[in-house]
Amino acid sequence: MVSFTGNDSNCFKRSSPAGLSLAFMKLTNLSNLWIKFIGNCMVEARAGYEYKWSPKTRSAGLERVKLSETIAKPVRKFVFDYFLENSRAPVLEEIMQSFHLARSEASDILEELETAHHVIRLPGTQRILMANPFSALDTPFAVKIGNKGYFGACAWDAVAFHIMLGRESLVNSFCHHCAEPIRIEFRNGRAVSTQPSDPLVFLSLPAAKWWENIVLTCANNMVFLSSRRHLDDWLKENPVVRGEALSLEQTLKISVPIYKEKMKIDYARPSKEQLTAYWDSIGLHGDFWKL
Ligand SMILES: [Zn+2]
Ligand SMILES: [Zn+2]
Repeated sequence: MVSFTGNDSNCFKRSSPAGLSLAFMKLTNLSNLWIKFIGNCMVEARAGYEYKWSPKTRSAGLERVKLSETIAKPVRKFVFDYFLENSRAPVLEEIMQSFHLARSEASDILEELETAHHVIRLPGTQRILMANPFSALDTPFAVKIGNKGYFGACAWDAVAFHIMLGRESLVNSFCHHCAEPIRIEFRNGRAVSTQPSDPLVFLSLPAAKWWENIVLTCANNMVFLSSRRHLDDWLKENPVVRGEALSLEQTLKISVPIYKEKMKIDYARPSKEQLTAYWDSIGLHGDFWKL
């Protein structure tokens, strides 16, 4: 048996990455892996006997989990923490090192995280391109927080940093129409200073299509415009483009269910039903918002 201890508030900090790595290293090749939780905290891991999973066993604090299910959460958290700390994505080798994984195992975990819409790899590679709101590639959506700089994957993502981290953030971007600079300061849950005065976030693809190709969606279809007039000019010049324009306040609001808990170990993406119900509750109805 491999076990380690901790408590609700600091166990992952204390046991990860070294403690977790040790446990996973020793258990990697065992078919039945048992993890005991107290609250959200993994306190014990052991292998070797059958136990049927049921809601009852879950509430008793004992859960049967596959290795990938167990380690996907810490790896997701590791990717986000790494982005936050280093302003870039970790490479696969850093994930292999930190979790004592073989290349194929680390790659499988990334694939699983991509399927669950937590990270996006550069197609055909093992390189992380995005872990929204973070982009590993420079974009027109620069975000400054404290003394660190990041790139949001799209205009919405640039705004969402403030919701995800709850810290003052400064967005430096451009009008999608005329490329004039747009500068927005977020503090205490709202935009406290904007230049020009009323920039918009324009989403030109309906919600149901966002994940058909999230790289193109973020890169081309979620942009800032300096004002309603700049948007109208843009639409006049591009008559096939349709979409929804959101104020900064609305963009902050729609960010809450997807982004607020992203830095937590137990983050789960809201379901389609939860999202549409939430959008409905803040007045975003209609075909555009159907998932
Ligand atoms: Zn413009
Ligand atoms: Zn995006």
